[in-house]
Amino acid sequence: MTESNSILIKDTTIISDETKKASILIVDDTIQEISTKLNKNDAEKVIDGTNKITMPGLINTHSHVAMTLLRGVGDDQSLQTWLNEYIWPKEANLNEELVYLGSKLAMAEMIKTGTTTFNDMYFYVEETAKAVDESGIRAVLGYGMIDLFDEEKMKSELKTSEQLIKSCHNTCENRIKVAVAPHAPYTCSEELLVKSKQLATKNDLKLHIHVSETKQEVEDIAKDKKETPFKYLDNIGVLDSNTIAAHGVWTTADEMNIIKEKGVSIAHNPSSNMKLASGIAPIAEYLEKGINVGIGTDGVSSNNNLDMFSEMKLTAFLQKVNLLDPRVLPTKDTFDMATKNGAKALGLNTGIIEEGKLADIILVDTLVPHMTPLRNALSNIIYSSLGTDVDTVICNGNILMENKVLKTINEQEIIQEVNERAFEL
Ligand SMILES: [Zn+2]
Repeated sequence: MTESNSILIKDTTIISDETKKASILIVDDTIQEISTKLNKNDAEKVIDGTNKITMPGLINTHSHVAMTLLRGVGDDQSLQTWLNEYIWPKEANLNEELVYLGSKLAMAEMIKTGTTTFNDMYFYVEETAKAVDESGIRAVLGYGMIDLFDEEKMKSELKTSEQLIKSCHNTCENRIKVAVAPHAPYTCSEELLVKSKQLATKNDLKLHIHVSETKQEVEDIAKDKKETPFKYLDNIGVLDSNTIAAHGVWTTADEMNIIKEKGVSIAHNPSSNMKLASGIAPIAEYLEKGINVGIGTDGVSSNNNLDMFSEMKLTAFLQKVNLLDPRVLPTKDTFDMATKNGAKALGLNTGIIEEGKLADIILVDTLVPHMTPLRNALSNIIYSSLGTDVDTVICNGNILMENKVLKTINEQEIIQEVNERAFEL
């Protein structure tokens, strides 16, 4: 990692709550000052910010990053076929080493496309934590618990989560937080869901779960529990402001009121919902009701990349076409979802360029044809830019990429290793 106690991003166009031209002084892990008066003697390291848009690092609120190994597996199948016949049989062959490699590859991809924080749910989580440690990115990590209504399995799943809290929470200069992550109401027993929430509350952790992703799930829960998914989770005490619910595609008006009242955050995954034909989540309605919504990529095999720039554009376009109204999801709403709303969902002091916030910042190149002219920087970011326009990435005050060169990951080495090993699955 490039260690610099102070970094000055000089004379740049900053997009955050407002768009302005200024310089940013970072000291250690924090944004210390934003001003037009800073000069190059104020820091040990100076980054020229002219011709760059400087903005908060993007926050991916729902991922399974090691699934990079499964890129291209089971395309064009229904969610249940995809899971049962393609993904779960291959995941049964996963091991520590492979999860580490897949995670490392994902971090190379995320940093290169401007993501500085991700909220993950998967297996062999200590291996993902090791890759987080080495790559310098920020993460909320949960072990994806699935008991399939088996009591012994429930106990061992909870134990794995407890161990993860002990080994990883608040580690790596505080870049890693652990969340409790029961997979979904249709793969977890009621007892596991209740105990997961107790475990999260006892340790003051977030609870990360898939909810109301498909119509099938809603029908199954209605049969088993005589309730809608969010209502069922609310009845058993799982929902509050520490809950991050991925998807929320098929919610009723009644459920939206519960989500709002309980302060649950939604992680919206437009690519995954489109590719698996899960449906279109009512994001414009959520925002109108004041529900906190972040954006996620979900796993690579239902996306098939981790580029949050394309998720932002899809988020906006999907709502516009669904409601036949181009006025919904204006650029600032989409931008907030991918930055400060994500930080709010994860309970992190980041997602905005402001003095006192953690220094998670990206610089985006503007001297490319598709970003020209720079009439409206925010518009260009949401509708014109590509993840590969990201030039420089800073996370926790450390430079992870500069001039499009990764500083903490040997990119070619990890590509070669994954190409050699992914087929072991
Ligand atoms: Zn998912």
